[in-house]
Amino acid sequence: MIYALKHGMVVGNHSYSHPDFAEIPYEEGISEIEKCEALLDDIYKKTGVERKYRPFRFPYGSKGGKNEENYEKYFKDRGFSMEDVIKRVHDRDPVSGAMLLEDGTNHIILMHDHEETFAMVPDYYKIMLEHIMENGVSFSVPEFI
Ligand SMILES: [Zn+2]
Repeated sequence: MIYALKHGMVVGNHSYSHPDFAEIPYEEGISEIEKCEALLDDIYKKTGVERKYRPFRFPYGSKGGKNEENYEKYFKDRGFSMEDVIKRVHDRDPVSGAMLLEDGTNHIILMHDHEETFAMVPDYYKIMLEHIMENGVSFSVPEFI
């Protein structure tokens, strides 16, 4: 992670233990977010990189169920940006200025599979990969491997 931060990548919050936020009490959800924030603040500090941007993405594409509005207010009050991964591939990174679908740029896309994700959004990864490949993205093995 230190290598990634030193090379201008942004590391976001995806919760501490990856629960479904629609299934846990609001207070537990906030604790999940804040435990992960503390780790991120610590590693940014150790790396010496300023943390300008705080993306958060719910596990499993959840929006927090009945607590959705409370979470939205929490994120807004604390300067987070909530992430929709598929929309984000068209955005420019506010820190580095990089855009995923731009010629001559290189990015690491971290996607991790769960049975629950597939149950909630069938073909999620297929949809994501097809979308970015239709927009000109190709894949290669990183040079340091
Ligand atoms: Zn996840």
